[in-house]
Amino acid sequence: MIKNYVFDVDGTLTPSRQRIDPEFAQWFTKFAETHNVFLVTGSDYPKTLEQVGHDVMMSVRRVYNCSGNDVWEKGVNIRRKEFMLPHDLEKFMYDWLQASKFPLRTGTHVEKRPGTVNFSIVGRGASLEERQEYVQWDKHNRERETIAYQINEGWDDITAAIGGETGLDIFQTGCDKSQILVDFTPNDVIYFFGDAMFEGGNDWPLAQANVKGKNFPIAGWEHTWEILKTVWDEEHDNASTSWNVDNQYKKAKGKEIYGKATPEVGGGLAAT
Ligand SMILES: [Mg+2]
Repeated sequence: MIKNYVFDVDGTLTPSRQRIDPEFAQWFTKFAETHNVFLVTGSDYPKTLEQVGHDVMMSVRRVYNCSGNDVWEKGVNIRRKEFMLPHDLEKFMYDWLQASKFPLRTGTHVEKRPGTVNFSIVGRGASLEERQEYVQWDKHNRERETIAYQINEGWDDITAAIGGETGLDIFQTGCDKSQILVDFTPNDVIYFFGDAMFEGGNDWPLAQANVKGKNFPIAGWEHTWEILKTVWDEEHDNASTSWNVDNQYKKAKGKEIYGKATPEVGGGLAAT
């Protein structure tokens, strides 16, 4: 049995859209050099590199960018899938940009990436403050949920999922984070850490498909670090224990810090 640690990036290793804490980056690099670590994120390679830094990128086994549509190993691209955005869907998104009652537009609203398109009403040009304005507004108006629902109902072979704090990830159905499982064998066990394991979140498909492994719904990067530190301490204090990460999983579930978790997938503990 091979233990594999798979991490979402935004909200799991870093604050949303921001850089990783330098102290945590250093610690995490050490962890990644001694464990089988993978990253899986909706973001593209340059953004992930900017967020987590060179050392983390080089210390992990593989980085699955664009929800696994663009795969990198030690800075080398090893696989890429393209997604053709249907014309009528593109028009639908521009109609929403006109129709949304949220007042602010900051530019770069439809961003094409390998295998996926990111759609954001406020836009990628938003400052931290402007993003927060949208986050609050979306919380009350549930706009992204509505858009995702309409796309999922209206286009058979296309899936829309809430990604990050202000956007939606749109892709060919099945080309979500769960597709990374093709790279693992029945001998692999996956410990998956993500902040969006709730239904409709971009970690949900992989959490659902990870039936043999364990899912850790994360409330923020500090939460991830807390769990990993305990895993590390258990491994080093008691070398005869090979259960470490499983112990953490049991303890965490025992304390019910995972809220109303279903047996393997948590709900309601996503970072807000
Ligand atoms: Mg996330």
